[in-house]
Amino acid sequence: MLLHISGVHGVEAYAGSATQLALLAAPPPLNAGTALVLVHVLNPWGMAWLRRCNEANVDLNRNFLDDNATWSGCPPLYRCIETLLNPPSPPARDGFVLRLGLRGLRHGVAALRQAIAHGQYRYPQGLFYGGDQLQPGPRLLMAWLRDHLAATNTLFVIDMHTGLGPQGASTLITEAHVGCGPASASLSQRLGLPVLGDPAAPEAYAVRGSLGAALPRLLPNLGLDFVLQEIGTATPLRVLHALREENRWHHHGGGGIDHPSKQALLAALCPADAEWRRAAVRQGCELAHRAAAALQSP
Ligand SMILES: [Zn+2]
Repeated sequence: MLLHISGVHGVEAYAGSATQLALLAAPPPLNAGTALVLVHVLNPWGMAWLRRCNEANVDLNRNFLDDNATWSGCPPLYRCIETLLNPPSPPARDGFVLRLGLRGLRHGVAALRQAIAHGQYRYPQGLFYGGDQLQPGPRLLMAWLRDHLAATNTLFVIDMHTGLGPQGASTLITEAHVGCGPASASLSQRLGLPVLGDPAAPEAYAVRGSLGAALPRLLPNLGLDFVLQEIGTATPLRVLHALREENRWHHHGGGGIDHPSKQALLAALCPADAEWRRAAVRQGCELAHRAAAALQSP
């Protein structure tokens, strides 16, 4: 089975959704024993409201913890900068970029990025909040996979996102370090595309509660490959700033869809540029076709 998932992060769903429409129009060649399954927008509420997280402010790619997990914890450095990341006020100019830059000088940019994006379970209105229980979308997906993959021996999963990496370029990241799929070098070879081993990817970071890390726990008895595809949009700082301002508007402003902070987040994660959009869909389809070929090669 080739499983293509879009919209784990709601506002990032547009490129994945467009890719899935293109795959329906021109699916990869599949032999009789192979299925293509499209999970269209795991976080539809976030897509509709231009939020990365879901209706409970949960980042779904930090929410896939196992049943015995403790839903608590927060990187120490996140706690230090929590009020800078999540100020309890509507969007306003407040020197965020400069103040974050000073923090970067003090702690190191890589350490800061890791602390911010790792996932936190302490501030329910904060960015990168992983929740206090498994959310309905992830719960449905896990149950569906458990119920329908009994006869499947090999699964290739593509989880499509936007934001990370050079603008308009595709970056593939596997989760080999958590036991999902083979090492990135072997996956690269089979796909004929470079695959980075998270968290070695430039600008990438290790996260807690990701979908890729949950799959081997859920499906321990089948051959599993997992690739997270990112289509680059803007600098990490611009994306973070846009996430922060939209989060302020949601919790401390009106929350309406027409606000500039919503439109800025959309522009930061799904650029209006037609060439970017074409490139996103082209690379989304190319990966799906290559994954289908890799899946069916002897
Ligand atoms: Zn994402």
